Amino acid sequence: MDVKLNSRKLISIVVPCYNEEETVRLFYQEVQTVIQNLNYEFEYLYVNDGSIDCTEKKVRELMLLDQRVKLIDFSRNFGKEAAMLAGLQYAKGDAVVIMDVDLQDPPSLLPKMIYYWEQGYDNIYTRRRNREGEPLIRSFFAQKFYQIINKISDVEIIDGARDYRLFSRPVVEHLLSLKESNRFSKGLFSWVGFSGVCLEFDHVERVAGTTKWSFLKLFNYAIEGITSFSNSPLRLATYTGLLIAFISFLYLIYIVSKTLIFGNEVPGWSSIACIILFLGGIQLLFLGVIGEYVGRIYSEVKHRPNYIVRSCIDLSHEEE
Ligand code: UDP
Ligand code: MG
Repeated sequence: MDVKLNSRKLISIVVPCYNEEETVRLFYQEVQTVIQNLNYEFEYLYVNDGSIDCTEKKVRELMLLDQRVKLIDFSRNFGKEAAMLAGLQYAKGDAVVIMDVDLQDPPSLLPKMIYYWEQGYDNIYTRRRNREGEPLIRSFFAQKFYQIINKISDVEIIDGARDYRLFSRPVVEHLLSLKESNRFSKGLFSWVGFSGVCLEFDHVERVAGTTKWSFLKLFNYAIEGITSFSNSPLRLATYTGLLIAFISFLYLIYIVSKTLIFGNEVPGWSSIACIILFLGGIQLLFLGVIGEYVGRIYSEVKHRPNYIVRSCIDLSHEEE
């Protein structure tokens, strides 16, 4: 029996959790009903991303029920990107699946993902067909973000693509070999390439709890995405500078000619004020853009870890 068990492939399910005491167990139960008849070994890696509610306690309770459940406990909230990275680093599986704990990533897709993996696909991702139930402005800005990023960066980031993915071991190794600390995973996941399949599903509401993403957090995430995968904003500064220099040159010719032909007149202070304000605004805007990149360089050179693990608990080891 043991020999047969050990010969089965292992699939790791990585579950980032931040204040998810209500969903930890529901998630486990739902996934269990889907995977229990599949002929694979599974491990659950719950990453507790510095929750301040009883998430950790709920995971520990699950661990007593099922030793395949493991807990990676962060010392504070480091964000979902860091939680996903930790999950990939700790996962031992031949394949790794990342899933949200709120059941917005339907577990019913798991058998299909595994099927495609067995067919030789390495990077199986999922996408929501619609954004029903989401606030309208959030959908609007999300759509604009995907349009912009796909225009200016060379990796394709699919609108509605979730972090709900299955990676084969080689893809996981390559993702881990990317050492950048500002991680925009949606981009990195498609940057590594490999053969991919997209599975689509309809939007599902959260089973319990509330979203952890405020509008400001999403806006910062969008800036992270754009600056991680494109230099176009910097180039835009160059082009704007060139355009303004060209217009100023034309204006200069106009003023000189006018003075030569009609003589000197009292120059209007309002046009000068407008020009100064306009140029000042543009300069500040692009200083901000450059600042974004400089800030990222700064945080890269500091080489800080993406997260700190307070404790990593794997009860199955203690049994051996
Ligand atoms: N999450 C996390 N750290 C954070 C924010 C979120 O680990 O700082 C987890 C969260 O517990 C959930 C997943 O990331 O499992 C997606 O978060 P959420 O459902 O709040 O985002 P939404 O689905 O609204 O985009
Ligand atoms: Mg959610």
